[in-house]
Amino acid sequence: MKYSDHARCPGCSGNLVFNITEQMLECESCSSMYTVYEYNNILAEKKKKGSESFSRGALLNVEEGDASKENMLRSYTCSSCGGEITPGAAAATGVCPFCGNALVFTDKYRDQQVPDFIVPFKIDKAQFLEEYRAVLKKRMFVPDAFRVGATFKNIKAWYIPFWLFDVTVSGNASFQVERVSYSNKKYHHVVYSGHGFGSETFTKIPQDASIEVDDRISQMLEPFECTNAPRFSFAYLAGLHAKVYNVSREDCLVRAENRARESFDRYLSDAELYDYYKVTDRQYDYKPLKASYALFPIWHMDIIWQGRKFPCAVNGQTGKTACSIPVSMVKFVCSQLFPWLFCLSLCYWVCALGVIKDGNSMKGMTVLIFLYASVVYVCAKYIFVRNLSTALFSILFTYGAWHFGHEAYKVYSGGEEAFDIALVTAVILFVSIALCCLLWKLVKRQNAFTLAPHCDYCHSDDYQNNVTRSWSREEKKKCNSSAKSIIEGSKRSKNDEDRVGIWYFFN
Ligand SMILES: [Zn+2]
Ligand SMILES: [Zn+2]
Repeated sequence: MKYSDHARCPGCSGNLVFNITEQMLECESCSSMYTVYEYNNILAEKKKKGSESFSRGALLNVEEGDASKENMLRSYTCSSCGGEITPGAAAATGVCPFCGNALVFTDKYRDQQVPDFIVPFKIDKAQFLEEYRAVLKKRMFVPDAFRVGATFKNIKAWYIPFWLFDVTVSGNASFQVERVSYSNKKYHHVVYSGHGFGSETFTKIPQDASIEVDDRISQMLEPFECTNAPRFSFAYLAGLHAKVYNVSREDCLVRAENRARESFDRYLSDAELYDYYKVTDRQYDYKPLKASYALFPIWHMDIIWQGRKFPCAVNGQTGKTACSIPVSMVKFVCSQLFPWLFCLSLCYWVCALGVIKDGNSMKGMTVLIFLYASVVYVCAKYIFVRNLSTALFSILFTYGAWHFGHEAYKVYSGGEEAFDIALVTAVILFVSIALCCLLWKLVKRQNAFTLAPHCDYCHSDDYQNNVTRSWSREEKKKCNSSAKSIIEGSKRSKNDEDRVGIWYFFN
């Protein structure tokens, strides 16, 4: 049995926890505040004086430690109350179930590996929930019952272990790139093939080292800014949750090299300038330069709704979110029905005008008012209340449809109007179905967790200087085709800003 550590107040021996808002350690009993630096100094001072009673149970310095390799599942004795706690293999912190003290199992890190640095939490719990609400506002077609009835479970501030790799990739590759333009109902493709060689250093490619954390989520929360990250100290963990790694450095390196390869492909073929790129042949050498071990801050909770679990995570440094939120089919269908209903009512309206002309105006007006009332009802209930801009978009679209139909009616107000109106309605219906499919695709993408195969922000700062590149580029193929891409390569992935642009339009 080992003694657990906890950050002890130098003044009153109370429980210290890391206060994210103040970025200081705060005593739960006497409210004294200490910076991590001050606290570590006080601790070192007390130890020098040999005050054993204080240092047992206070966070020990990083340098010390016995390297006993025991099972990670060992039990601990609370240094305050003597209670027993078994935290589980991956957990490096815990709360004593008897006295409520925030415990840190420092020996787990010492036995395994002490992190090189830590990115402290900047986002506190209130901000985390704020970020979540902001996401909820942005997402489309969220069920009303979810907004009201969803409950949060396991809201925790986690320090997640990450391996960060510096890797130099060098070698040569043959590639094809494609530029696509669209005019006269055809895609125009220009394909270039080329060859390039050079080397490139990627720094701090992050890879989460925890089995429990979904790679897609951790990659969606990137990047973590770690240029000014402080040296690791156990004091940062006080009162928060932390894990030790359970994916080895070697396993993580393989994944990091894959991301480096993908980024080097894009870099070598100048993919940013084209619409598609494809590497046909490559010989790369990977030279791992350095691996550092760090703890990154992630807020995580499970949203429970109708017995289902929706994970939600936020980057504890930047506030970037990764959230899966259910989509209400009812809302979606209703919002899409709006333009269709309008088309239908347009037809009736035209008929009603005909009826008015014939003198039976009451019947025509009744049909008209009834239909518009139902449209307004659907609009108000399912679109307006929750998603104003989608509603505005729908209204704009339906106004266009109305205008078009009306003009068509005026032009063809001869004997054949019925046929023409039907034609216009069919076109509008077709367009709305197409838009509906597009919107559904976007909604699905907005709610999905996705891997980021490359890591373009990891290019080292001085890559402009230490890279030698040369390539030949010859025009290979020029053709018109109905296909979007003829080389079937990877689409140059849009960056987040581009995506946001689409969202502003549809949101
Ligand atoms: Zn105190
Ligand atoms: Zn206790």
